Amino acid sequence: MKSQNRIHRALYVLAGLLATVVTSTASAQECTVKPGSIPLGQTVRLRCEVPAATARLNSRTVRLFKQETGDWLGLMPVAVADVPGDYPIEFLAEDGTVLASVNLTIRKTVFPSQNVVLAPQIGALHSTPEEMQTLTSFRDSISDVKYWEDSLVAPVRGCVISPFGVKRLHNGKPTGDFHAGIDQRAPAGTPIRAVAAGVVKIVQPFNVLGGTVAIDHGQGLETMYLHMSKLNVEAGARVNRDDVIGYVGATGRANGPHLHWVVYVNGVPVNPQQWVGLKSCGTAKKKSKEN
Ligand SMILES: [Zn+2]
Repeated sequence: MKSQNRIHRALYVLAGLLATVVTSTASAQECTVKPGSIPLGQTVRLRCEVPAATARLNSRTVRLFKQETGDWLGLMPVAVADVPGDYPIEFLAEDGTVLASVNLTIRKTVFPSQNVVLAPQIGALHSTPEEMQTLTSFRDSISDVKYWEDSLVAPVRGCVISPFGVKRLHNGKPTGDFHAGIDQRAPAGTPIRAVAAGVVKIVQPFNVLGGTVAIDHGQGLETMYLHMSKLNVEAGARVNRDDVIGYVGATGRANGPHLHWVVYVNGVPVNPQQWVGLKSCGTAKKKSKEN
């Protein structure tokens, strides 16, 4: 009888070990990345059923936040300057333990070039160090509260004159910069709407950006709207999706009225057209005046 007990106990221990192995294998699948294959300049949605505090893609680390559903969600930006290839996204617990690793394919992406003709007085505009600092602080602040929810609305209805990611030339000279937002066609005075709920962080005229409103939507999502003729909100205000935050203008480095707006995901500018369905103007090539 004694030896039978020992066998039972051994089997029991073995079963326990097997259960541990099975559980840890399962937890590796409890985190997902969507989509699993993505062009440069887009956003990957991260989801975990286990308490993941952060996720890491090469040298970029973003936070995940516990949702009312019990899941942990986060947003991983793929920058325009990232190198295409296959990479693991690692999910980490609070103490730094790797909970799961999921593959992401970053696809090769071709961005066209676009020349912008600038009048001398507009080309001479430059940002001040204070302006740069204001923008950096905005991009770097990631707030815990999630104000936004899918899906976002378009800030104006107009078609896209200039897409995200195009390499910019000013008067034929390469700037070394890319278009970090999109330009939508809209007549001067058109109301501009918040794409999602959030807290207004910047309401200010900038030298290059013109009349600007920047909104923190929470948990890593931020948007910014430029070249406005009139600003309709105050810094610190809570806004809802669809609230009018200002009006289309041509202030700052802009040759004509249009809306340039930007989506930042955890501080990295990403393609707004992945977030909001918008039509291209199509015949945009000959009209490259906007910035
Ligand atoms: Zn623009």
